[in-house]
Amino acid sequence: MPDPIIISGKEFAAGLRGRLAGAVDTLKTERDLTPGLAVVLVGDDPASDIYVRSKGKATVKLGMHSVEHRLSAETSQATLIGLVDELNHDPAVHGILVQMPLPDHIDSTAVISAIDPDKDVDGLHPISAGRLAQGLSGLVPCTPQGCLLLIKHVQPDLSGLRALVIGRSILVGKPVAQLLLNENTTVTIAHSRTKDMPELCRQADILVAAVGRANYVRGDWVKPGAIVIDVGINRMPGENGKDKLIGDVCFDEAVEKAHAITPVPGGVGPMTIACLLRNTVIAACRQHRIDVPDI
Ligand code: NAP
Repeated sequence: MPDPIIISGKEFAAGLRGRLAGAVDTLKTERDLTPGLAVVLVGDDPASDIYVRSKGKATVKLGMHSVEHRLSAETSQATLIGLVDELNHDPAVHGILVQMPLPDHIDSTAVISAIDPDKDVDGLHPISAGRLAQGLSGLVPCTPQGCLLLIKHVQPDLSGLRALVIGRSILVGKPVAQLLLNENTTVTIAHSRTKDMPELCRQADILVAAVGRANYVRGDWVKPGAIVIDVGINRMPGENGKDKLIGDVCFDEAVEKAHAITPVPGGVGPMTIACLLRNTVIAACRQHRIDVPDI
């Protein structure tokens, strides 16, 4: 068998950011339009703080307008929804992201539902999910979009292939499955109650693991020649006292069987922010009735 392709999401995301920077430049110079992203953080969770900072930095680096709102952990749901509403009406803001998780006293579904679906760059609004389910143009959740871009990078035509998605979350599993269905694959969705998981995996030309369990998918579950996308990020204690990141797929085993496989880290992970920026550019173009550039 030829050597497997190790799909570098890190490299792909860098290329995507480069294309986005070009598109932003054209929008600014030819249309006087600067795409803007607003990120809202409630509370002081250190991991969320790092995500918000890196989203802001990446936005500015691309020449886009970045707005950050940091609210205290005691912020009421009404105040947060009031801010979302202000951002919905702010013409300089084309995309709104409320960083999850929110404090327990806030209903995250109510907050997400308050975002204007045309500015829902996280793609989690029920209307965005409905548009995706109906194959209509909308904003697609970032990590699933990243998975699809990586799959199509190695296999542009997916028609007729069998896909197995392990995981059925609103954030990853379900939208990945919808995207693959829209690409004319035959999709199976597996979850914690699924029986005969190894056998189902062995039938899959495309295997996407979004489970949250380190090394869950073993090498002998992988169909020879399959494309394997590992979404899992599991933090495990490393040798030097620092955490190391482990995927849901046992990479060393699966790489022996796969045609192409994403590593962890450096696979799906770097695609998420790049796709968030991509969604912001798409949202800005649509709000201004400009043809979306090919990015
Ligand atoms: P989640 O909401 O916890 O969903 C996990 C899914 O896996 C559920 O559908 C669950 O089934 C299923 N599952 C759990 N244990 C299982 C088992 N033993 N066998 C089969 N299925 C099982 O997680 P998520 O938000 O989708 O995230 C999944 C993974 O992706 C996590 O490791 C997360 O950190 C990672 N992630 C990465 C990125 C990124 O790369 N940027 C972004 C988001 C998430 P039930 O529905 O039956 O409970």
